[in-house]
Amino acid sequence: MLFIECPWCGYRDDAEFHYGGEGHISRPDASKELTDEKFAEYLFLKTNTKGLLLERWCHRSGCRRWFNVLRNTITNEILEVYPITDTPKSKEGKKIYEGNWRRKSLSRRASKAGEAK
Ligand SMILES: [Zn+2]
Repeated sequence: MLFIECPWCGYRDDAEFHYGGEGHISRPDASKELTDEKFAEYLFLKTNTKGLLLERWCHRSGCRRWFNVLRNTITNEILEVYPITDTPKSKEGKKIYEGNWRRKSLSRRASKAGEAK
């Protein structure tokens, strides 16, 4: 059993939450420059980490709000919880965030190209 601290409601049983996958993944802009290859990368390629991972969670049986979690996938230890609009503040979280392969991925670049318009 996993206890997760919702930033608004406090600690709750994991049965109240919905796992939203890896955190900080931006959907690429569906412009003309978005190829099938770039969209497939966004849709299907996930970080399969053994260790620390930034994740999205929703407190679906509570406040229904989304937030991010830095969790160790081996021990289930939660090192940080922060709002969905923020980036991690802890040293470990910053390292994972900055080192994520998606910062250089095709879909990320497609997303950035869409933002520049
Ligand atoms: Zn909540």
